[in-house]
Amino acid sequence: MDTINVTADTCDGPRCGARAYVYVQINDRELAYCGHHGTEYMPRLTENAQVIVDLRHTIPA
Ligand SMILES: [Zn+2]
Repeated sequence: MDTINVTADTCDGPRCGARAYVYVQINDRELAYCGHHGTEYMPRLTENAQVIVDLRHTIPA
């Protein structure tokens, strides 16, 4: 079984420290993005990431 260690719970986007709602594993790296950056990068992530954990539906309205 593969497990993902999510070490960061804040967005890895540029100049962004928002809470992360999208976690990806891409080439043995783990990245986390907030809803805004997750949406922005999603097309690229779906092409390149091995695993995507999309929790954007849990973002409080
Ligand atoms: Zn962000």
